[in-house]
Amino acid sequence: MEALKTMDLNALLEKNRAFTSLGKVANYIPELDKANPNAFGVCIMDLEGNEYCAGECNEKFTIQSISKIVTLMLALLDNGKEYVFSKVGMEPSGDPFNSIRKLETSSRKKPYNPMINAGAIAVSSMIKGDDGRDKFNRLLDFFRKIMEDDSIDVNYKIYIGESETGNRNRSMGYFLKSEGIIKGEVEEALDVYFKQCSIEVTAKNIAKLGLFLARNGVTSTGEQVVPYKIIRIIKTLMFTCGMYDKSGEFAVKVGLPSKSGVGGGIVSVVPGKLGIGIYAPALDEKGNSVAGTKFLEDFAEMFDFRVL
Ligand code: GLU
Repeated sequence: MEALKTMDLNALLEKNRAFTSLGKVANYIPELDKANPNAFGVCIMDLEGNEYCAGECNEKFTIQSISKIVTLMLALLDNGKEYVFSKVGMEPSGDPFNSIRKLETSSRKKPYNPMINAGAIAVSSMIKGDDGRDKFNRLLDFFRKIMEDDSIDVNYKIYIGESETGNRNRSMGYFLKSEGIIKGEVEEALDVYFKQCSIEVTAKNIAKLGLFLARNGVTSTGEQVVPYKIIRIIKTLMFTCGMYDKSGEFAVKVGLPSKSGVGGGIVSVVPGKLGIGIYAPALDEKGNSVAGTKFLEDFAEMFDFRVL
């Protein structure tokens, strides 16, 4: 994209680095607490193959909730949209990502959407495979294919932490089982979910994921891995539910389909144009990267990239 060639990405990043001091890194697992709160990296990739990176864009972090969009793509490929959305809704919940509150009281009798933990655990249970190991290996291969990086793997220290501290997620899993939303073994579904959250990536990997969505499911080799009709669902759910219970405000201020994770990552998509990957682990009270959000506000306004 011509417009980006003249941009001073370093200056824009450094201007927003100050916001890292307003957030806190996630600490529900000791291992996550080790992240440098002032780290900030941005990588932007366009459809012509240009790459613009600034700051700590090669630093590794766990993908956490950003994994939810990738697992949803494979679950939709494996099961079709009628089945998936018979078990999980499409509505923003307005509640924190790990809330249990509406699970029982909702008349829908299913999790509100696939971006909150309850919905994501249900989606993880839908990945096909012979056993838990096979299911996760299929999913990991899918991550590698979309991000075009065969070295992507699980951070096992974080995975053990997720599993050891994941009792709230475990309670949701068993509730979903009791409602017939999870069909197979609950522990198997949870294990896939804990592992997918613990996949280690860089801002560059995340930008590649954004680019894949910007290209409507096509990799840089030209292979259509996911059909447009699924990509459209993913981008719509990112826009309406991707930034926790701040998705509405984010849609107004940034206006790009995006998904964040408590590891400090954000993936954003400028449809038909760009994939953006961000890493800045100091989070706001809802779990979104503070500096990452501020950067995206500036960036979307500067180039008038907002989709709405
Ligand atoms: N892995 C964490 C959990 O399931 C957080 C996921 C996230 O929101 O990034 O509670």
